[in-house]
Amino acid sequence: MAATALPQRSRPADDGVTRLDVIIVGGGFGGMYAVYKFNKLGLKLQAFESGNDVGGVWYWNRYPGARVDLPSIDYSYSFSPEIEQEWTWSEQYAAQPELLRYIDFVAKRLDLRRHFQFNTRVDSAVWDEDRQLWTVKTNRGDTFEAPFCIMATGPLSVPKKPEIEGLDRFKGRLMYAARWPHEPVDFAGKRVGVIGTGSTGIQIVQEVGRQAGELFVFQRTPSFTMPMRNVPIEPEYMAEVKRHYAGIREIARNSAIGGARPLSTRGFFTVTPGQRLALLEDSWNQGGLAMLGTFGDLMINEEANEHVAEFVRGKIGEVVTDPSTAESLKPRGYPIFARRPCLDTGYYETYNLPNVHLMDCLTDPILEATEKGIRTASGETELDILILATGYDGLTGALLAFDVVGRDGRTIQDKWKNGPRSHLGIMLEGFPNLFMTTGPNGPAALANIIRMSENDVDWIADAITHLRKNGLGSIEPSRKIEDDWMELVHALAKNSLINKAKTWWVGANVEGKPQGLTQFIGGFLKYREHCAAAAANGYAGHQIEPVRQAVEV
Ligand code: NAP
Repeated sequence: MAATALPQRSRPADDGVTRLDVIIVGGGFGGMYAVYKFNKLGLKLQAFESGNDVGGVWYWNRYPGARVDLPSIDYSYSFSPEIEQEWTWSEQYAAQPELLRYIDFVAKRLDLRRHFQFNTRVDSAVWDEDRQLWTVKTNRGDTFEAPFCIMATGPLSVPKKPEIEGLDRFKGRLMYAARWPHEPVDFAGKRVGVIGTGSTGIQIVQEVGRQAGELFVFQRTPSFTMPMRNVPIEPEYMAEVKRHYAGIREIARNSAIGGARPLSTRGFFTVTPGQRLALLEDSWNQGGLAMLGTFGDLMINEEANEHVAEFVRGKIGEVVTDPSTAESLKPRGYPIFARRPCLDTGYYETYNLPNVHLMDCLTDPILEATEKGIRTASGETELDILILATGYDGLTGALLAFDVVGRDGRTIQDKWKNGPRSHLGIMLEGFPNLFMTTGPNGPAALANIIRMSENDVDWIADAITHLRKNGLGSIEPSRKIEDDWMELVHALAKNSLINKAKTWWVGANVEGKPQGLTQFIGGFLKYREHCAAAAANGYAGHQIEPVRQAVEV
């Protein structure tokens, strides 16, 4: 790279420190795009990934039935028209192996892997105020320095520690959905237990129920799940999509969820009961998340929401033949869509199989794991395999897992002790030149993660380019703009029905975690507008410092 006023490579390389322009942590969709983008800008970079390859959640989550529940066409990069034209999806909702093939295709096509150190965990990132650099240390004992550090660590990368006593006593095979082995697992003739019925557990149950000798599903809170109605993508359809990708992306970028699906603004009670039912039936038959888009007020009008919830409960009752099992599967006590909606293929039908048993942990709680299986209040269930689909320490878990130390020695643990705070979910006051992609306080879990990653990386790239062009050394949001952003996030979230369910969306699934909805729920388009406004006028409201030390490159 050409000489620049930025404070980098200030020490000789033989001091053991590698000096760079940008450090990127994470090899999922966000990290891969960041590597591509910053390399294209001519920056010297190094990326780290704890897995053995790129792919993020799709690298780790190889459990049977793992599948994206947004349309594959939406759940793919939009930054490269070449990749769009060269890649062909085979199913409307791609399964994990196809997603990993896509990720591999992108990585090879853009030659991304050479920028990664795999099997490498970042242990700490410490801001050096005088030299305006982040010092990053890895678990391999190596040290790297760069003015800019990008945390593309993802909202769902740290599996939550299940609070179940005695798991280490279990003599059978203990399997974590989020750390699934690369080899196939044979369930035939085995007694298998699954704990957890979120999106992950549901996908596992509907698959393993058809393979195992016996399947015991330990369900605490039932989820609402709707038919995915997955179909193969016909060549003619894919060809049409390829002709219209630019328009499809434009719709997605300008939508509330970052996808091409229409969302209605129709109020539930503005149509007759007969019309409502017809609309709900229609969206049930369409499948996917169609129901979420049928009415515009489902997340603010509790009565409307309950009507829709009751409609889905009715569908469960129609499918599940044993009345007591059907009752246990019907979610109650929280609004539909306040917990992440799930999509399934024959999930409820699985409970009609004679070898599948629902263990209702609301009435018969899990007490402990034993040598032989799981003990609930009513007795012990013996198992050969126990699968934990117990979720993640979402949104903040990955960043809080290592030492991030900003200005004046302030840690991120201290900054976030009462819950995550940031500006746009991208930057943190007190942590100059540190950037997050899909961070908390952005739309995080509520919009298409790939659209968000692209938006965030582009925003970060523009900010870095601005600094470099103008001989500036650091940028961080002022306390005022961070406060303003957090006020907006909280004001929007205040009346959302999302607050009424105990989920990872509000931090309620991890003991001791600060609780509350700290995601921007104003929609992806509005979020993009806020991002654009924050960059306007030379990043007004940010604290921007000149380069303090001119350093030889
Ligand atoms: P989750 O939604 O947090 O669900 C975890 C499940 O484990 C819940 O049913 C929870 O019950 C149960 N659980 C946790 N600890 C337990 C304990 N000690 N005893 C009994 N049950 C316990 O986690 P997830 O299913 O892994 O999904 C997380 C997110 O990943 C999803 O919301 C989604 O965003 C994403 N995901 C997406 C896809 C996809 O695209 N297809 C697939 C999988 C996951 P309680 O609710 O009662 O705590």
